[in-house]
Amino acid sequence: MLIGPQNSPLEGPLDARLQQLRTRIAQACATAGRASDAVLLLAVSKGHPAAAVRGAAALGLHAFGESYVQEALPKIAALADLPLQWHFIGRLQANKTRAVAGHFDWVHGVDSLHLAQRLAAQRPAQRPALNVCLQVNVAGERHKGGVAPAQLGALAQAVHGLPGLRLRGLMGILPAGLAAAPRRALFAEIVALATQLRAGGLPLDTLSLGMSDDFEDAIAAGSTVVRIGTALFGPRP
Ligand SMILES: *Cc1c(COP(=O)(O)O)cnc(C)c1O
Repeated sequence: MLIGPQNSPLEGPLDARLQQLRTRIAQACATAGRASDAVLLLAVSKGHPAAAVRGAAALGLHAFGESYVQEALPKIAALADLPLQWHFIGRLQANKTRAVAGHFDWVHGVDSLHLAQRLAAQRPAQRPALNVCLQVNVAGERHKGGVAPAQLGALAQAVHGLPGLRLRGLMGILPAGLAAAPRRALFAEIVALATQLRAGGLPLDTLSLGMSDDFEDAIAAGSTVVRIGTALFGPRP
C-alpha cells in the first residue's frame, strides 16, 4: 500500500511525500550550514510490500531499511533486478546474523562483539565488507538495544579489527516523546562519542540518527543518515 488511510496528514502519492521530505531535509541542512547532499535518506520500507520499494526506487531512492529478516529476504529477492542498497536496522538476534551477513549491505544495530564476530565470520567471501554502525544507548534505557557509552570505545576498537566488516559509525534511537531540548542533547552526545572515537584513530564517516519525528534535530546535530519510514511511505499497515 502506497497511500495512508483517508484523512491522514500523510495521504497522497509517494512522489509528493518524497518531494516534501527532500525539501525538509535540504532546509535542515541549510539551517545547519551543511551541504544538502551530506545526508542520506534511508527509506525504511518495513511493513510495506516490494511494490512500494519499486515505486520509491523509480523516484530515485536507492537505500532501503528493513527491521525483520523474514520480511526482508523475500523483498530483497523480488527486487534483485534493481541496484538497491539494503540496510538492516532492526534488533539483531544471533540466530539471524547469517541471513543478515548474506543479504544486506549495512547493519545499523550492532551492539556486542559476539554479534559482530558472527557477522564477520558469516559474511560471504565474494561480497564486499559489510558496513557496520554500532548502536549506542545514550538514554540508558533498560531493555533497549545499544551499547552503553562507557563500553563503546572498547567495542569499536574490537569491531574495527574484524575482517569482513567495515566499521562506519554510530547509530542511535532516542526514546519516543522527548521534548526538543533533551532530544538535541542526546543527539549531541552521540555525535560527541563519534568525535572521540575518530580522535582515537577510527575512520568513522557515518552517523545514523533521526527518524520521521526527529530527523531535523538529528541533521542539526550532524546526522549523515536519516532513517525515514512513516513520513515517506505513510503509516505502516
Ligand atoms: C521503523 C524504524 C524507523 C522508521 O521509523 P519512522 O518513524 O516510521 O520514520 C527508523 N529506525 C528504526 C531503527 C526503525 O525500527
